[in-house]
Amino acid sequence: MDILVILEGANGAIHRISKEAVAAAQALGKDLNQKVSVLVFGKNSDNLSKEAASFKVDEVLLVEDDNLKSYSADAYAETVKQIVEKESPKFVLTGYSYLVRDFFPKVSARLQKPLITDVTGYKVEGSKTLFTKQVLHGKLTVDIETKVDGPVLVGFQSAAYSLDNLEKGSAKIRTAEVTLDSAQLKTTSEEPFQEESGGVDLTSADKIVSIGRGIGKEENIPMINDLAAALKAEIGASRPIVDSGWLPNSHQVGSSGQSVTPNLYLALGISGAIQHVVGMKGSKNIVAINRDPDAPIFEVADYGVVGDILEIVPKLTEALKNQ
Ligand SMILES: Cc1cc2nc3c(=O)[nH]c(=O)nc-3n(C[C@H](O)[C@H](O)[C@H](O)COP(=O)(O)OP(=O)(O)OC[C@H]3O[C@@H](n4cnc5c(N)ncnc54)[C@H](O)[C@@H]3O)c2cc1C
Repeated sequence: MDILVILEGANGAIHRISKEAVAAAQALGKDLNQKVSVLVFGKNSDNLSKEAASFKVDEVLLVEDDNLKSYSADAYAETVKQIVEKESPKFVLTGYSYLVRDFFPKVSARLQKPLITDVTGYKVEGSKTLFTKQVLHGKLTVDIETKVDGPVLVGFQSAAYSLDNLEKGSAKIRTAEVTLDSAQLKTTSEEPFQEESGGVDLTSADKIVSIGRGIGKEENIPMINDLAAALKAEIGASRPIVDSGWLPNSHQVGSSGQSVTPNLYLALGISGAIQHVVGMKGSKNIVAINRDPDAPIFEVADYGVVGDILEIVPKLTEALKNQ
Protein backbone atom coordinates (compact mmCIF):
# COMPACT_ATOMS: atom_id res chain seq x y z
CA MET A 1 0.00 0.00 0.00
CA ASP A 2 1.24 3.51 -0.84
CA ILE A 3 -0.88 6.25 0.74
CA LEU A 4 -3.53 5.57 3.39
CA VAL A 5 -5.98 8.28 4.47
CA ILE A 6 -7.71 7.87 7.84
CA LEU A 7 -11.30 9.11 7.58
CA GLU A 8 -13.41 10.50 10.40
CA GLY A 9 -17.19 10.43 10.51
CA ALA A 10 -19.26 13.40 11.68
CA ASN A 11 -23.06 13.25 11.92
CA GLY A 12 -23.31 10.22 9.63
CA ALA A 13 -21.10 11.67 6.88
CA ILE A 14 -17.39 12.01 6.28
CA HIS A 15 -15.94 15.00 8.09
CA ARG A 16 -15.01 17.94 5.83
CA ILE A 17 -11.40 17.94 7.07
CA SER A 18 -11.08 14.22 6.18
CA LYS A 19 -12.26 14.97 2.65
CA GLU A 20 -9.66 17.73 2.42
CA ALA A 21 -7.05 15.13 3.42
CA VAL A 22 -8.30 12.89 0.58
CA ALA A 23 -7.84 15.83 -1.83
CA ALA A 24 -4.27 16.21 -0.49
CA ALA A 25 -3.67 12.46 -0.90
CA GLN A 26 -5.00 12.50 -4.46
CA ALA A 27 -2.56 15.30 -5.34
CA LEU A 28 0.36 13.53 -3.60
CA GLY A 29 -0.59 10.22 -5.23
CA LYS A 30 -0.44 11.86 -8.66
CA ASP A 31 2.90 13.55 -7.98
CA LEU A 32 4.52 10.36 -6.64
CA ASN A 33 2.64 7.98 -8.93
CA GLN A 34 1.31 6.18 -5.86
CA LYS A 35 -2.02 4.58 -5.05
CA VAL A 36 -4.39 6.10 -2.51
CA SER A 37 -6.46 3.99 -0.10
CA VAL A 38 -8.81 5.28 2.57
CA LEU A 39 -9.73 3.72 5.91
CA VAL A 40 -13.24 3.87 7.38
CA PHE A 41 -13.82 2.32 10.79
CA GLY A 42 -16.66 2.17 13.29
CA LYS A 43 -19.86 0.22 13.70
CA ASN A 44 -22.62 0.25 11.07
CA SER A 45 -20.46 2.47 8.89
CA ASP A 46 -22.29 1.72 5.63
CA ASN A 47 -23.02 5.38 4.88
CA LEU A 48 -19.43 6.39 5.51
CA SER A 49 -17.93 3.59 3.42
CA LYS A 50 -20.34 4.31 0.54
CA GLU A 51 -19.43 8.00 0.64
CA ALA A 52 -15.72 7.08 0.77
CA ALA A 53 -16.19 4.81 -2.26
CA SER A 54 -17.47 7.82 -4.21
CA PHE A 55 -14.00 9.41 -4.06
CA LYS A 56 -11.42 8.78 -6.75
CA VAL A 57 -9.27 6.39 -4.69
CA ASP A 58 -7.99 2.90 -5.34
CA GLU A 59 -9.66 1.20 -2.42
CA VAL A 60 -11.77 1.73 0.70
CA LEU A 61 -10.77 -0.35 3.72
CA LEU A 62 -13.65 -0.92 6.10
CA VAL A 63 -13.23 -2.07 9.70
CA GLU A 64 -16.38 -2.81 11.72
CA ASP A 65 -16.12 -3.65 15.41
CA ASP A 66 -18.39 -3.35 18.46
CA ASN A 67 -15.58 -1.57 20.29
CA LEU A 68 -15.68 1.20 17.66
CA LYS A 69 -19.37 2.02 18.20
CA SER A 70 -18.46 5.30 19.89
CA TYR A 71 -15.20 7.24 20.15
CA SER A 72 -12.45 5.78 22.29
CA ALA A 73 -8.89 7.08 21.85
CA ASP A 74 -7.50 3.63 22.74
CA ALA A 75 -9.72 1.73 20.30
CA TYR A 76 -9.21 4.22 17.47
CA ALA A 77 -5.41 4.31 17.96
CA GLU A 78 -5.19 0.52 18.15
CA THR A 79 -7.32 0.09 15.01
CA VAL A 80 -5.18 2.44 12.95
CA LYS A 81 -1.98 0.93 14.35
CA GLN A 82 -3.01 -2.61 13.40
CA ILE A 83 -4.12 -1.61 9.91
CA VAL A 84 -0.87 0.30 9.30
CA GLU A 85 1.15 -2.72 10.48
CA LYS A 86 -0.79 -5.07 8.18
CA GLU A 87 -0.93 -2.87 5.10
CA SER A 88 2.47 -1.12 5.39
CA PRO A 89 1.59 2.19 3.72
CA LYS A 90 4.38 4.68 2.98
CA PHE A 91 2.28 7.65 4.14
CA VAL A 92 -0.63 7.78 6.60
CA LEU A 93 -2.53 11.02 6.08
CA THR A 94 -5.44 12.50 7.99
CA GLY A 95 -7.24 15.78 8.58
CA TYR A 96 -6.00 17.12 11.90
CA SER A 97 -9.34 17.66 13.64
CA TYR A 98 -9.76 17.87 17.41
CA LEU A 99 -10.71 14.17 17.54
CA VAL A 100 -7.70 13.12 15.46
CA ARG A 101 -5.47 15.30 17.66
CA ASP A 102 -6.63 13.14 20.55
CA PHE A 103 -5.77 9.69 19.21
CA PHE A 104 -3.30 10.10 16.33
CA PRO A 105 -0.25 10.85 18.54
CA LYS A 106 -0.94 7.50 20.26
CA VAL A 107 -0.67 5.78 16.85
CA SER A 108 2.66 7.50 16.29
CA ALA A 109 3.92 6.43 19.73
CA ARG A 110 2.70 2.83 19.35
CA LEU A 111 4.26 2.48 15.89
CA GLN A 112 7.36 4.49 16.86
CA LYS A 113 6.97 6.47 13.63
CA PRO A 114 7.15 10.24 13.14
CA LEU A 115 4.03 12.39 13.14
CA ILE A 116 4.01 15.80 11.43
CA THR A 117 1.04 17.89 12.54
CA ASP A 118 -0.83 20.93 11.18
CA VAL A 119 0.69 20.44 7.74
CA THR A 120 -0.33 23.00 5.10
CA GLY A 121 1.24 21.38 2.02
CA TYR A 122 4.00 19.20 0.62
CA LYS A 123 6.88 19.41 -1.84
CA VAL A 124 8.40 16.61 -3.87
CA GLU A 125 12.12 17.19 -4.45
CA GLY A 126 13.71 14.28 -6.28
CA SER A 127 13.21 11.21 -4.11
CA LYS A 128 12.31 13.34 -1.07
CA THR A 129 8.80 14.31 0.05
CA LEU A 130 8.83 17.31 2.36
CA PHE A 131 5.86 18.40 4.45
CA THR A 132 5.31 22.10 5.08
CA LYS A 133 4.04 23.64 8.30
CA GLN A 134 4.24 26.92 10.15
CA VAL A 135 6.09 27.23 13.44
CA LEU A 136 6.65 29.92 16.07
CA HIS A 137 3.09 31.28 15.80
CA GLY A 138 3.28 31.48 12.01
CA LYS A 139 6.52 33.50 11.94
CA LEU A 140 8.40 30.76 10.07
CA THR A 141 7.45 28.14 7.52
CA VAL A 142 9.47 24.92 7.56
CA ASP A 143 9.71 21.96 5.20
CA ILE A 144 10.11 18.74 7.17
CA GLU A 145 11.86 15.67 5.85
CA THR A 146 11.77 12.44 7.85
CA LYS A 147 14.64 9.98 7.80
CA VAL A 148 12.99 6.76 8.90
CA ASP A 149 11.96 3.58 7.16
CA GLY A 150 8.27 2.96 7.00
CA PRO A 151 5.27 5.21 7.25
CA VAL A 152 5.29 8.91 7.96
CA LEU A 153 2.15 10.08 9.77
CA VAL A 154 0.82 13.43 8.59
CA GLY A 155 -2.03 15.54 10.00
CA PHE A 156 -3.24 18.23 7.58
CA GLN A 157 -4.35 21.60 8.90
CA SER A 158 -8.02 22.39 8.27
CA ALA A 159 -8.56 24.07 4.86
CA ALA A 160 -4.99 23.31 3.74
CA TYR A 161 -6.56 21.66 0.67
CA SER A 162 -9.76 22.77 -0.99
CA LEU A 163 -12.74 20.47 -1.40
CA ASP A 164 -13.04 21.95 -4.91
CA ASN A 165 -10.08 19.70 -5.79
CA LEU A 166 -11.58 16.49 -4.37
CA GLU A 167 -11.93 14.13 -7.32
CA LYS A 168 -14.91 11.81 -7.51
CA GLY A 169 -14.79 8.22 -8.68
CA SER A 170 -15.95 4.76 -7.76
CA ALA A 171 -13.77 2.65 -5.50
CA LYS A 172 -14.21 -0.90 -4.29
CA ILE A 173 -14.69 -1.61 -0.58
CA ARG A 174 -12.55 -4.25 1.15
CA THR A 175 -13.32 -5.33 4.71
CA ALA A 176 -10.39 -5.64 7.08
CA GLU A 177 -10.14 -7.14 10.56
CA VAL A 178 -8.55 -5.86 13.73
CA THR A 179 -8.35 -7.51 17.14
CA LEU A 180 -9.51 -5.21 19.90
CA ASP A 181 -9.46 -6.55 23.43
CA SER A 182 -12.05 -4.56 25.40
CA ALA A 183 -10.02 -5.11 28.59
CA GLN A 184 -7.19 -3.11 27.00
CA LEU A 185 -9.43 -0.18 26.08
CA LYS A 186 -9.26 2.15 29.04
CA THR A 187 -10.80 5.32 27.63
CA THR A 188 -14.43 5.93 26.76
CA SER A 189 -16.03 9.17 25.64
CA GLU A 190 -19.14 11.06 26.62
CA GLU A 191 -21.83 12.06 24.13
CA PRO A 192 -20.43 14.26 21.34
CA PHE A 193 -20.59 17.98 22.00
CA GLN A 194 -23.55 19.51 20.16
CA GLU A 195 -22.99 22.79 18.36
CA GLU A 196 -25.51 25.49 19.17
CA SER A 197 -28.43 25.53 16.76
CA GLY A 198 -29.35 28.56 14.68
CA GLY A 199 -25.75 29.63 14.16
CA VAL A 200 -24.72 31.57 11.09
CA ASP A 201 -23.57 29.51 8.08
CA LEU A 202 -20.64 31.50 6.79
CA THR A 203 -19.66 28.80 4.32
CA SER A 204 -22.32 29.91 1.84
CA ALA A 205 -21.98 33.69 2.42
CA ASP A 206 -21.21 35.91 -0.57
CA LYS A 207 -19.65 38.70 1.54
CA ILE A 208 -18.17 38.53 5.02
CA VAL A 209 -17.12 41.40 7.27
CA SER A 210 -14.79 39.79 9.78
CA ILE A 211 -13.51 41.36 12.96
CA GLY A 212 -10.47 40.69 15.11
CA ARG A 213 -9.07 41.96 18.37
CA GLY A 214 -8.43 45.31 16.69
CA ILE A 215 -12.10 46.11 17.29
CA GLY A 216 -10.98 46.89 20.84
CA LYS A 217 -14.15 46.35 22.83
CA GLU A 218 -17.58 44.75 22.57
CA GLU A 219 -19.24 48.17 22.48
CA ASN A 220 -17.72 48.72 19.01
CA ILE A 221 -19.55 45.75 17.47
CA PRO A 222 -22.73 47.71 16.51
CA MET A 223 -20.49 49.74 14.19
CA ILE A 224 -19.63 46.47 12.42
CA ASN A 225 -23.31 45.44 12.29
CA ASP A 226 -24.00 48.73 10.45
CA LEU A 227 -21.24 48.09 7.93
CA ALA A 228 -22.37 44.48 7.39
CA ALA A 229 -25.96 45.67 6.85
CA ALA A 230 -24.82 48.30 4.33
CA LEU A 231 -22.79 45.67 2.46
CA LYS A 232 -25.43 42.92 2.88
CA ALA A 233 -22.67 40.81 4.40
CA GLU A 234 -22.47 38.20 7.15
CA ILE A 235 -20.25 38.81 10.17
CA GLY A 236 -17.20 36.64 10.83
CA ALA A 237 -14.63 36.84 13.60
CA SER A 238 -11.24 35.69 14.76
CA ARG A 239 -11.09 33.38 17.73
CA PRO A 240 -10.34 35.97 20.46
CA ILE A 241 -13.66 37.68 19.65
CA VAL A 242 -15.52 34.40 20.15
CA ASP A 243 -13.44 33.46 23.21
CA SER A 244 -14.36 36.82 24.76
CA GLY A 245 -18.04 35.95 24.24
CA TRP A 246 -18.59 39.00 21.98
CA LEU A 247 -19.96 36.80 19.15
CA PRO A 248 -21.23 33.18 19.17
CA ASN A 249 -18.98 30.29 18.07
CA SER A 250 -20.67 29.98 14.69
CA HIS A 251 -19.03 33.28 13.62
CA GLN A 252 -15.48 32.01 14.08
CA VAL A 253 -13.38 31.66 10.95
CA GLY A 254 -10.28 29.50 10.99
CA SER A 255 -8.84 26.12 11.75
CA SER A 256 -11.16 25.60 14.70
CA GLY A 257 -14.02 27.56 13.13
CA GLN A 258 -15.54 27.69 9.68
CA SER A 259 -13.67 27.64 6.37
CA VAL A 260 -15.09 30.26 4.07
CA THR A 261 -14.77 31.19 0.40
CA PRO A 262 -16.90 34.34 -0.12
CA ASN A 263 -16.52 36.74 -3.01
CA LEU A 264 -15.49 39.44 -0.52
CA TYR A 265 -13.74 38.92 2.82
CA LEU A 266 -13.17 42.18 4.68
CA ALA A 267 -10.69 41.54 7.51
CA LEU A 268 -10.87 44.31 10.11
CA GLY A 269 -8.22 44.42 12.83
CA ILE A 270 -7.20 40.81 12.25
CA SER A 271 -3.46 40.09 12.42
CA GLY A 272 -3.48 37.09 10.05
CA ALA A 273 -2.37 34.21 12.27
CA ILE A 274 -2.14 30.95 10.33
CA GLN A 275 -5.08 29.45 12.25
CA HIS A 276 -7.25 32.30 10.95
CA VAL A 277 -5.78 32.45 7.46
CA VAL A 278 -6.37 28.75 6.69
CA GLY A 279 -10.08 29.40 7.11
CA MET A 280 -10.35 32.40 4.75
CA LYS A 281 -7.48 32.27 2.27
CA GLY A 282 -9.77 30.71 -0.35
CA SER A 283 -11.87 33.92 -0.46
CA LYS A 284 -12.04 35.44 -3.95
CA ASN A 285 -11.23 39.02 -2.85
CA ILE A 286 -9.58 39.74 0.48
CA VAL A 287 -9.50 43.32 1.76
CA ALA A 288 -7.63 43.93 5.01
CA ILE A 289 -7.61 47.01 7.21
CA ASN A 290 -4.98 47.02 9.93
CA ARG A 291 -3.01 49.79 11.57
CA ASP A 292 0.18 47.68 11.54
CA PRO A 293 1.78 47.80 8.05
CA ASP A 294 3.67 44.59 8.83
CA ALA A 295 0.60 42.56 9.85
CA PRO A 296 0.76 39.11 8.17
CA ILE A 297 -2.84 39.52 6.94
CA PHE A 298 -1.46 41.80 4.20
CA GLU A 299 0.43 38.81 2.74
CA VAL A 300 -2.86 37.15 1.75
CA ALA A 301 -4.83 40.35 1.07
CA ASP A 302 -5.65 41.48 -2.47
CA TYR A 303 -6.15 45.03 -1.17
CA GLY A 304 -4.67 46.39 2.03
CA VAL A 305 -5.41 49.59 3.92
CA VAL A 306 -3.08 50.67 6.72
CA GLY A 307 -5.27 52.56 9.14
CA ASP A 308 -7.50 52.59 12.19
CA ILE A 309 -10.72 50.59 11.71
CA LEU A 310 -12.48 52.68 14.33
CA GLU A 311 -12.01 55.72 12.07
CA ILE A 312 -12.43 54.01 8.69
CA VAL A 313 -15.45 51.76 9.31
CA PRO A 314 -18.03 54.52 10.08
CA LYS A 315 -16.88 56.49 7.02
CA LEU A 316 -17.05 53.37 4.83
CA THR A 317 -20.56 52.59 6.08
CA GLU A 318 -21.64 56.16 5.39
CA ALA A 319 -20.19 56.04 1.86
CA LEU A 320 -21.97 52.74 1.15
CA LYS A 321 -25.27 54.09 2.45
CA ASN A 322 -24.96 57.15 0.20
CA GLN A 323 -24.32 55.13 -2.94
C1 LIG B 1 -5.19 25.21 18.18
C2 LIG B 1 -5.51 26.65 17.84
C3 LIG B 1 -6.61 26.89 17.04
C4 LIG B 1 -6.95 28.21 16.70
N1 LIG B 1 -8.02 28.41 15.92
C5 LIG B 1 -8.28 29.67 15.50
C6 LIG B 1 -9.35 29.92 14.60
O1 LIG B 1 -10.10 29.03 14.19
N2 LIG B 1 -9.56 31.21 14.21
C7 LIG B 1 -8.78 32.26 14.62
O2 LIG B 1 -9.03 33.39 14.22
N3 LIG B 1 -7.78 32.04 15.50
C8 LIG B 1 -7.51 30.78 15.94
N4 LIG B 1 -6.50 30.59 16.82
C9 LIG B 1 -5.86 31.78 17.43
C10 LIG B 1 -4.80 32.40 16.52
O3 LIG B 1 -3.55 31.79 16.76
C11 LIG B 1 -4.65 33.90 16.81
O4 LIG B 1 -4.35 34.08 18.18
C12 LIG B 1 -5.88 34.72 16.46
O5 LIG B 1 -6.30 34.45 15.14
C13 LIG B 1 -5.54 36.21 16.59
O6 LIG B 1 -6.74 36.93 16.45
P1 LIG B 1 -6.70 38.48 16.02
O7 LIG B 1 -6.02 38.59 14.70
O8 LIG B 1 -8.08 38.98 16.14
O9 LIG B 1 -5.88 39.14 17.19
P2 LIG B 1 -4.35 39.76 17.26
O10 LIG B 1 -3.42 38.71 16.77
O11 LIG B 1 -4.24 40.29 18.60
O12 LIG B 1 -4.40 40.89 16.16
C14 LIG B 1 -5.11 42.08 16.29
C15 LIG B 1 -4.73 42.94 15.08
O13 LIG B 1 -5.51 44.10 15.08
C16 LIG B 1 -4.69 45.20 14.71
N5 LIG B 1 -5.32 46.37 15.30
C17 LIG B 1 -5.42 46.71 16.62
N6 LIG B 1 -6.15 47.82 16.77
C18 LIG B 1 -6.51 48.23 15.50
C19 LIG B 1 -7.27 49.31 15.00
N7 LIG B 1 -7.84 50.21 15.82
N8 LIG B 1 -7.40 49.43 13.65
C20 LIG B 1 -6.85 48.53 12.81
N9 LIG B 1 -6.13 47.47 13.25
C21 LIG B 1 -5.96 47.32 14.58
C22 LIG B 1 -3.32 44.87 15.25
O14 LIG B 1 -2.33 45.55 14.50
C23 LIG B 1 -3.28 43.35 15.05
O15 LIG B 1 -2.72 43.03 13.77
C24 LIG B 1 -6.16 29.29 17.18
C25 LIG B 1 -5.06 29.03 17.98
C26 LIG B 1 -4.72 27.74 18.30
C27 LIG B 1 -3.51 27.49 19.15
